[in-house]
Order: sequence, then structure tokens, then C-alpha cells
Amino acid sequence: MIEMILRLFEARAASLESICGRSSGALGRDEFVAAASAACRAHPIGWHAFMTAEGGDDVSAGTLMAYLVKALPTPDVAKAAMAVLLGRPLPEQLPSLVAKSPYYDAERRRASIVMERAKRARRAGDQHKYQNLLDERNGILAAARQRVEDELLSTGICPKCHGSGRRERKQDECPVCRGRGRIQPAVEMVAEHYGPAASDMLKRVVDVVLVDKSQAVQVMVCRLQMEREVAYC
Ligand SMILES: [Zn+2]
Repeated sequence: MIEMILRLFEARAASLESICGRSSGALGRDEFVAAASAACRAHPIGWHAFMTAEGGDDVSAGTLMAYLVKALPTPDVAKAAMAVLLGRPLPEQLPSLVAKSPYYDAERRRASIVMERAKRARRAGDQHKYQNLLDERNGILAAARQRVEDELLSTGICPKCHGSGRRERKQDECPVCRGRGRIQPAVEMVAEHYGPAASDMLKRVVDVVLVDKSQAVQVMVCRLQMEREVAYC
């Protein structure tokens, strides 16, 4: 956890220092760790939301998920809330997004060629070869789906246009992300899948976490400002 904080803040030290004051270089690792601990003590959930969103920290993601599971009616709604908090597509959006990925489409074509060979083997009465080819085809599809989903969930980048927001051939807006290049969580799907009550609850919980997150960041910034003033006295 501490290592994660350091990696995150070494990368962001410059921008944080510009928030805290114009001069640079006065704050070291200890000050960042102390500020992070203060923020975590004062606003634990907000802090874990910040670490999950900014740093992809697994420990924080686990803590945040446990909180969401407790606060929301079902684990699926909690997963949806996590997606909304991270600005990623909801689990329910994934199947149609995978289908729109050119990579998945190419792999699907490759799989269908293997499937043709499998059918030929079955017609020829070679059950063993048929089973092997069928496994190969299923493996191709599963691996391609997994890869597209992993990329989507870790980056949020549109699988159709790879983030450009444009459709190359027609030179117009990408219809999947509507030109944004990124896939937004379709919050309205929560009501469709889990009902309006769950959807309202999700929105309330997400708001609570976001407020706590900005307060956690505020605590950290204040603490760093304080350390800076001490450093210059
Ligand atoms: Zn797109």
C-alpha cells in the first residue's frame, strides 16, 4: 500500500506541489506518506476510492468493493457502482462492446474457419479430431473476449475506434462511443436490470463515495500545505 502511494505520488508530485504552492522540491516521501495516512484516517472510503481510481490499487479496490457490497442490495449492483465510480462500462455493457471490437471480429472469423474444419472431421467420423478442433475454436473465442474485456475495464477506451472517436472509412464519428473515444458507464442500465429502487440507491452511494473522495484529497492537500509551511519556517 505504501509503495503504491509512493509510486502514485512520485508521478504526481509535481502537480500536487503546484496545488500546494508554487515553489517545488521541499516535500519528500515521508511528507507524502504522512499526508496519505492522514487522508486515509479521516476519510477511509473516499481515500480508497481515490487510490482505486488513480492508482489501480488492488488493496483499495478490495476495501471499496467490500463497502459497496455492504451498502447496496446485491453484489451485482455493487459491481455496477464500482464501474460508475471508475468511469468504466457496466458488466451488462460488455457483451455488445466485445462484439464491436475489430480484434474480436478477426478472431471470430479465425474461430469460424476452425469450426468448419471441426465439422468436416465430424462428417468424416473422426470424433477425436472434432473435439480437439471444437476446443480450439472455443479457446480462440474465450481468449479474444477476455482480452477485449480486460482492456476495456482497465482503460475504458472504446474497442471500436481504439480511442480516436472517429470512424476511419466514413470519416465521421464513431457510433459506439459517439466520438468520445471512451466508453461511459450506462447508468440507466442499472434501473433496467435491477429496478428503480436499486438504481436510486446506487446513485446515492456513488455520491457519498465521491464526496468522501474529494474530502480525502482535500485533507491530503491541506496536510501537504502544512508540511510545506513548516519546511519554510
Ligand atoms: Zn469509439
